[in-house]
Amino acid sequence: MNSQQNSETAGSQRLSGKVVLVTGAGTGIGKAAALGFAQQGAAVVLAGRREAELREVAQSINTLGGQTLVLPTDVSDEEAVQALVTGAVAHFGQLDAAFNNAGITGPFQPITELTASDFDRVMATNLRGVWLLIKYEVLAMQQGGRGGSIVNTSSFLSQAATVGTSIYSASKGALDSMIRAVALEVGLAGIRINNVNPGAIQTPMMAGTPDEVLRPLAAHSALGRLGEPEDVADVAAWLCSDEARFVTGQSILVDGGFTIAGWR
Ligand code: NAP
Repeated sequence: MNSQQNSETAGSQRLSGKVVLVTGAGTGIGKAAALGFAQQGAAVVLAGRREAELREVAQSINTLGGQTLVLPTDVSDEEAVQALVTGAVAHFGQLDAAFNNAGITGPFQPITELTASDFDRVMATNLRGVWLLIKYEVLAMQQGGRGGSIVNTSSFLSQAATVGTSIYSASKGALDSMIRAVALEVGLAGIRINNVNPGAIQTPMMAGTPDEVLRPLAAHSALGRLGEPEDVADVAAWLCSDEARFVTGQSILVDGGFTIAGWR
């Protein structure tokens, strides 16, 4: 599945000559994106907290002749985020695109059972972390003077909801609002910013989700299946590329048509 889908896009070198930073690059959607971006010609900076997972992805890319830089980073730490972006530019000399994809769900429970520390922990990664990444990426792209493209991973849960998602939905909804302001601030510098909003995608984040939850998620989508990490990675690659040169400030559902009918 994965290799077949990636091989369909492997012929396209739409990211040739670009340096792309990916967070959450060791697993799931970020891993598929790192591999896909490299297949499409990009040099890839891999970030996340667990170094072993990042190194494994880097090795797969290097084996195929791609260029990588592994920079383990906790995106909730401002100094670490700044060091990540400056490290990427110091190594490759430029930053053309970024896929700010790292995120956590936190517990999915009714608001009365959640704590303020659950709130702070999810927001620190999903909202503050992405805000910090965007800030330092924009600074680097402005300094580079060649424009750029930033893509963040939001969620269908920024628009839909179910019992238990008050914190997660808020963290992702904030990303959808935030990029509209940033798009206006950076557009004249040739920098675009967009979100991908995945539906239910089969990644480690979904591991342990019971079948009785997964089955309706697939059955109630227009395309009748759950998503694969590559389904999202391919849209992120397109948004990073010059083919999406007139697209900015948009949050694009990549959910097989689940959200259009509402959660039921
Ligand atoms: P995943 O495999 O769990 O990926 C999440 C990644 O984020 C991990 O590689 C993790 O690596 C990294 N991460 C978490 N906290 C971090 C931090 N503080 N600093 C740096 N990296 C951190 O699950 P996934 O499904 O691919 O998730 C990717 C994105 O898609 C997330 O933003 C998620 O909210 C979003 N999303 C997923 C789905 C779905 O159904 N799977 C649906 C909608 C949206 P480390 O633990 O090594 O740091």
